[in-house]
Amino acid sequence: DLQLSDRVQQIKPSPTLAVTNRAAELKAAGKDIIGLGAGEPDFDTPDHIKQAAIKAIESGFTKYTAVDGTPGLKKAIIEKLKNDNNLSYEANQILVSCGGKQSFFNLALAYINKGDEVVIPAPYWVSYPDMVIIAEGVPVCIETDESTRFKITPEQLEAAITDKTRLVVLNSPSNPSGVAYTKEELQALGAVLRKYPNVLIATDDMYEYIWWADFAFENIVTACPDLYDRTIVLNGVSKAYSMTGWRIGYAAGPAKLIGAMKKVQSQSTSNPTSISQVAAEAALNGGRDCVLPMVKAFKERHDYLIAALNTIPGFSCIEGDGAFYAYPSVKEAMKTAGIESDVEFAEKLLLEAGVALVPGSAFGTPGYMRLSFATSMDVLKDAVARIKKVLS
Ligand code: PLP
Repeated sequence: DLQLSDRVQQIKPSPTLAVTNRAAELKAAGKDIIGLGAGEPDFDTPDHIKQAAIKAIESGFTKYTAVDGTPGLKKAIIEKLKNDNNLSYEANQILVSCGGKQSFFNLALAYINKGDEVVIPAPYWVSYPDMVIIAEGVPVCIETDESTRFKITPEQLEAAITDKTRLVVLNSPSNPSGVAYTKEELQALGAVLRKYPNVLIATDDMYEYIWWADFAFENIVTACPDLYDRTIVLNGVSKAYSMTGWRIGYAAGPAKLIGAMKKVQSQSTSNPTSISQVAAEAALNGGRDCVLPMVKAFKERHDYLIAALNTIPGFSCIEGDGAFYAYPSVKEAMKTAGIESDVEFAEKLLLEAGVALVPGSAFGTPGYMRLSFATSMDVLKDAVARIKKVLS
């Protein structure tokens, strides 16, 4: 019998990709399935970005680039961070990778030692704990619920930090809850973090541009500039510019850490795709005007969906500040249906309503469902009607 590594046996495949695949399988078998599992915008990549990539191919920009990214793209990232976030970085503090996923993977492998604890607020992006486990670290999750709008409190953070803690991960706006931290909330977390100078902070700003809150976007280092030397900023073009397939993410932080992450990347993928880098450069240099119509559509769908979900018996959902997910509690609906596991409940909705959702246990908080509203209003209306029909 083929023996696999202990490492790979400790991790699970991405549950969000699994739901998407399962929905695709049922569809291929002729079932009428609405997929609300996928975490990607339904819009096309804006044309000026595609044109830049086509030009790159035609001009022969199809070879290896510097491992850490082309000078042009790194410059565009530095300018983005300056203009949007008032953060200053030099070129040796920037690493471009094959999606935000690889940025975090590089961080985990370059920074975490066996047994190191990584504090991860739940509900979390599904990949953080598993990537920490691959790096032989220990995820320490802080469970939240709607009473704090799925945000950790300073007290919870303080209680989670031990002498083994090396990293705290923040993600705002959040996948899956859609909520974002305010400047004041970040400053309160910063006051705790300041007491633990050996703890690094990763801020995952992937959904920065998908935003409609009535307060301005902030991350831990814009809110607490004194934490600059201990913070790594993770961001990318996947969600902002509807470029999930191009695979470009980036990290900005301490030069020593970025250098170590670059070394990891140099022994795995080398540079991200040359053509995608040109496209990402055009995206960032083009600013966020092309993003605004997408955000407007996401906001309209959000407003519709949250209200509609709250009319489903046993569902209750808070409003988000951004991203493109709704994260209702379905605890009452599960009780009514006599189902204890949210995985089973998701399976019921998939088979009986034909709606694919991701159960909250995938994000570390059982009893919820993540619905992506990166799909048309008509599809959302149909999905809500089908779920209602099955549950009433
Ligand atoms: N961070 C968060 C919070 C995400 O939701 C995702 C994608 O789902 C990523 C990072 C990674 O994005 P990508 O690797 O597609 O750039």
